[in-house]
Amino acid sequence: MSENKIPYKIYLSEDEMPHTWYNLRADMKTKPAPLLNPGTLQPMTAEELEGVFCTELVKQELDNDTAYFEIPREIRDFYKMYRPSPLVRAYCLEEKLRTPAHIYYKFEGNNTSGSHKLNSAVAQAYYAKQQGLRGVTTETGAGQWGTALSMACSYLGLDCKVFMVKCSYEQKPFRREVMKVYGSSVTPSPSETTNVGRKILAEYPGTSGSLGCAISEAVETAVSNPGYRYVLGSVLNQVLLHQSIIGLETKTAMDKYGVKPDIIIGCAGGGSNLGGLIAPFMGEKLRGEADYRFIAVEPASCPSFTRGEYRYDFCDTGMVCPLAKMYTLGSGFMPSSDHAGGLRFHGMSSILSQLYADGLMEAVSVKQTDVFEAAEYFARVEGILPAPESSHAILAAINEAKKCRETGEEKTILFGLTGTGYFDLVAYEKFHDGKMSNFVPSDEEISQSLAQLPEVH
Ligand SMILES: *Cc1c(COP(=O)(O)O)cnc(C)c1O
Repeated sequence: MSENKIPYKIYLSEDEMPHTWYNLRADMKTKPAPLLNPGTLQPMTAEELEGVFCTELVKQELDNDTAYFEIPREIRDFYKMYRPSPLVRAYCLEEKLRTPAHIYYKFEGNNTSGSHKLNSAVAQAYYAKQQGLRGVTTETGAGQWGTALSMACSYLGLDCKVFMVKCSYEQKPFRREVMKVYGSSVTPSPSETTNVGRKILAEYPGTSGSLGCAISEAVETAVSNPGYRYVLGSVLNQVLLHQSIIGLETKTAMDKYGVKPDIIIGCAGGGSNLGGLIAPFMGEKLRGEADYRFIAVEPASCPSFTRGEYRYDFCDTGMVCPLAKMYTLGSGFMPSSDHAGGLRFHGMSSILSQLYADGLMEAVSVKQTDVFEAAEYFARVEGILPAPESSHAILAAINEAKKCRETGEEKTILFGLTGTGYFDLVAYEKFHDGKMSNFVPSDEEISQSLAQLPEVH
């Protein structure tokens, strides 16, 4: 099909939306390593996990074999409020870059929470409701997950308690208030409301907090309140499963126009948007049906893939969560508070970690000021104000498109535009005022943090 037949935006109809999520693990020859009980170092059983997580979500978490999970009708109905999300052909960006490359992005920012996180939030809230729970607890870093979960919980009539990383709580008052609009309670973390919060505050007074610490507080609050469970917005297998809707829609839209991407790029914090975007494409690669290049883009200030180790580690600072095998910088790693752009988690999804270890995916790390430069360039050309997280992928896509300009190759580049940056204007302001730094941890800092990892053989 000739190029000019491809519209700027490829929308699917509601009927073309996927009815199932795709579980990439079913096609992985080497399955991701299981979560371990930190006490016994044995794989976590469903019974153990059900103390913390909703029963149905535990099933999804542990299932390495079922390829497709039916999306319940109620969740599909909710999805219809903001999905299918558009797949955009970035004609303006291509022209501006004078590249022969064809660039596409899947835009997940078209909902009030402003990111892809709503895709998993509504699924998790739905299963909590089905189980008859009163509410859920969670952590949020930059605030997108907390906002998404708040929206899902208020829609379904569930209570929602959010622990928000302290520096974000202070830097992003608007996010905090949006969560309250949707009826959530929001506590800055570390807080005095939990044992683990009090312990961390005693040890590191004045800390700006971390996702790992907020997770510990949310888990403690869930297990000590009857009728509550903990939910997590990234990293877990179940979250990647829900986010596969991104990739499935993208694949359907591209197939409609006979387009096949050569390179698929996503930013990587805990790995959920990237895992979701690549899922059906990686499935084809794993089954030997097609080949693609996959690139994970992470911040140089929190470089789990590119400078971390593939080891068992805690997901949280308080070391109350199960151990996950993943590329990690150590659960005690605290990214500099100068780092504005999300993607602050010390570890990475076990699924993506295994794919990376098997050489099926690449990773690059990029500096913060370069990310904001790319963000602004993109905003001026394509119109959308991108989230800083998403802009990591924008930068990598632009770099690949520039390579095509040099080589004359007409590659097709697909990237995930995970969200909008309206709540990140303090970071944009820093960038404009020349006050943004490029913190990069030293080798010594990383090896000190990695030395704290638990010994698992
Ligand atoms: C949370 C978030 C990310 C990173 O999380 P992943 O789980 O790695 O996808 C990226 N972009 C936006 C807009 C986010 O809100």
